[in-house]
Amino acid sequence: MLLLAGRAAPASPASSNLADLLGRADTIKTVDNAAFVELLALLDKNTVALSATQKWRLRYLKAWQVAYLGDFAKARPLLETIIRETPDDAIRMHAAAALVNILGYSHQYEEAYTRLDHALDELPKVTDKDARFHILGEASQLLVGAGQYDLAASYADQIIADYPSGRNRCIGMYLKVHADFLGGKSAQSWRSQAQQAINACTQVNENLFADATRRDVASFAIRQGRTVDAINLLESHYLNVVKYHYLELTSEYAALMTEAYWQKGDTSRAEEFALNTVDLAQKSEFIEPLTTAYQLLYQIDRQKGDLRDALNYHEKYMTADKGRLDDVREKALAYQFVKQQVEAKKVELDELNKQNQILQLQQALDHKAVEAGRLYIALLLTVLASIGLWLLRLKRSQLRFMRLARRDGLTGIFNRQHFVDEAEQTLRYAAKSMRMACLILIDLDHFKLINDTHGHTAGDHVLRRAVAVCQQHLHSCDVFGRIGGEEFGILLPESSVIQALERAERLRVAISTTPEGESQDITVSASFGIASTQHEGYDLRRLLIAADSALYRAKRDGRNRVVVSGPHNGPEADRGSSGDHAADGRATGDPAIS
Ligand code: GH3
Ligand code: MG
Ligand code: MG
Repeated sequence: MLLLAGRAAPASPASSNLADLLGRADTIKTVDNAAFVELLALLDKNTVALSATQKWRLRYLKAWQVAYLGDFAKARPLLETIIRETPDDAIRMHAAAALVNILGYSHQYEEAYTRLDHALDELPKVTDKDARFHILGEASQLLVGAGQYDLAASYADQIIADYPSGRNRCIGMYLKVHADFLGGKSAQSWRSQAQQAINACTQVNENLFADATRRDVASFAIRQGRTVDAINLLESHYLNVVKYHYLELTSEYAALMTEAYWQKGDTSRAEEFALNTVDLAQKSEFIEPLTTAYQLLYQIDRQKGDLRDALNYHEKYMTADKGRLDDVREKALAYQFVKQQVEAKKVELDELNKQNQILQLQQALDHKAVEAGRLYIALLLTVLASIGLWLLRLKRSQLRFMRLARRDGLTGIFNRQHFVDEAEQTLRYAAKSMRMACLILIDLDHFKLINDTHGHTAGDHVLRRAVAVCQQHLHSCDVFGRIGGEEFGILLPESSVIQALERAERLRVAISTTPEGESQDITVSASFGIASTQHEGYDLRRLLIAADSALYRAKRDGRNRVVVSGPHNGPEADRGSSGDHAADGRATGDPAIS
């Protein structure tokens, strides 16, 4: 019906513009099909000048024409290719609507519903209003066939919402009224709705749809027993309907008139229209009016007592009714089957989506775990680095403290305690390896006098200077330390008494001859006492006593001299000598200072 009623605005004047020609072809395809075919041929010759979208549009119109001529077998693959391949949403939707139409027409309901379902899925993204109208119209018609009246009405509602006026609104309203009528919504409101649809259609000269609505109104009146109203309505429009050459609607009108006249008791008029209906419907297999007509013819003949004819019509009625019921059942079953398949697919898809979501969540969690792991490692490394740094600093400060604890604050050399420790260790080693070692004790001469004369600071300077002079003459293995105020000790490992005497003498000379830098007027000398392991053994205490004794002797003998602790005479027997290096208690000295 939608296919037949495809008339729109009158054809615009001929235009050389190909786009205009395409638009024009679309509007006249049902109004003037011959001119439409000519236009298609003209456009087909100029395909080079058409854009990609225009080419798809032309392909669709050509397929539509094939369907219009009733060659469904040929039209189907053409439409299917367009649906599959065109990138244009609107053209795909038009082609889908045309395909659904011919599938429904050729009773391939299952496929029709499947195709419809796919197209409706895509509908939300289709912005082209014409394409939306086309598929929504087909959906409403097809679902009425499956007994899905509410759904059919809702699609009609979408058309009404899309079009506030005009031809498509008329069709939307017709579809809505028709779906509601078949759905049994025969309330008072339906009658006014039907009247609104008739008005909307007559306003835009869509008389076919106005008359189709009147068919439902008349049927409704017959159901309510308002026979005269029904007859008046049908009679006043029947001749008009005949003029459409739309056999389905004409046969439906005739069947309703049969019913109305039979209800009124006008048997001859009823029989006349019943035969008329059979004549119209038989050729095109419009089962519903045919069933009505056969049933009434049977009843009429039975009333007449013409039992043979009555039986004949009854058989025909039974056959037609069976066909009608089969068709209804087939449509309903196909619809339910497709619906279930769609549901199953949806469930399957939901399941897949859920699995996908779980996988994505899992991935996100894994990612987070890796990130957290990295963070922990970074944190751990930072903590370890901090601890390492802290330990390093601790070690450094420990070392610094240890060094400070071992060193003399003024001169930087070993303090007494550390000197003792180091000297004892060296002596132990010497004892083990049976090697000789000597201890030299040094005491600056008249140091108190220097302090008293030049001040304590100058005294400090003299002390540092004396230490520096000694260091210049030390060997790396010698142990050198400050034992008291202006008293120093040097332990010489692997040294004989003679060697010790020589080195002490060198030190004595160095100290007494080194000018005192800034305070050159300060002269200083030192006295030396030497003790050897050869005579005293390896005990440091004994060595210290012996060396101190020799030192005492040096002081007593005039200072600025070296005295070696004698082996035979004990500390008291030490004596100084000059120039003779024998370890016999002699000492060296500088008489000028003494
Ligand atoms: P002798 O020749 O008999 O050794 O005479 P002396 O003056 O050197 O001996 P004494 O032991 O009487 O004096 C040592 C002085 O050394 C006393 C003290 O004030 C001084 N002294 C001790 N330690 C330091 C110090 O660190 N700095 C200074 N400037 N003087 C010190
Ligand atoms: Mg002293
Ligand atoms: Mg002194």
